[in-house]
Amino acid sequence: MPENFRSSKLYYFSILCNINFIFTYLKIHLFLNTMKPKKIEIIEKNLVIKWEDENISNISLIYLRNECPCAGCKGETVLLKAYKPPKIEKATPNMFKIKNIKIVGGYAIQILWLDGHNTGIYSWEYLKDLEKGQSKNSPQNYNELL
Ligand SMILES: [Zn+2]
Repeated sequence: MPENFRSSKLYYFSILCNINFIFTYLKIHLFLNTMKPKKIEIIEKNLVIKWEDENISNISLIYLRNECPCAGCKGETVLLKAYKPPKIEKATPNMFKIKNIKIVGGYAIQILWLDGHNTGIYSWEYLKDLEKGQSKNSPQNYNELL
């Protein structure tokens, strides 16, 4: 390596980029290793998730459905423009009942609701956020996974 490159800004910048890359990698790695659920079940009107670290998340099905992360429910951002979906006119009881749950790619679940809605992909991280938010009943911001 030439001596002038070592002292250049570019050299330090490339080191910083590498450090940042390693941190991001470790974060993702740790996240994927610690956040996996061991067991997911529906108990009465709640989705109960037992995580590998023995923590238990208890999320009400109503909150889970209201915070469905799909573009149809949450809207989406295309080229920095936010598109908000129209409000659902009528809530039906079947909206809040789960017919089936599918594991997607080892990082999320896809929920098939009894009214046929199935486009919401709930990542482990999002489920954890929901659990935190439901006590305050606060709406979640959902940035779609790449
Ligand atoms: Zn949805």
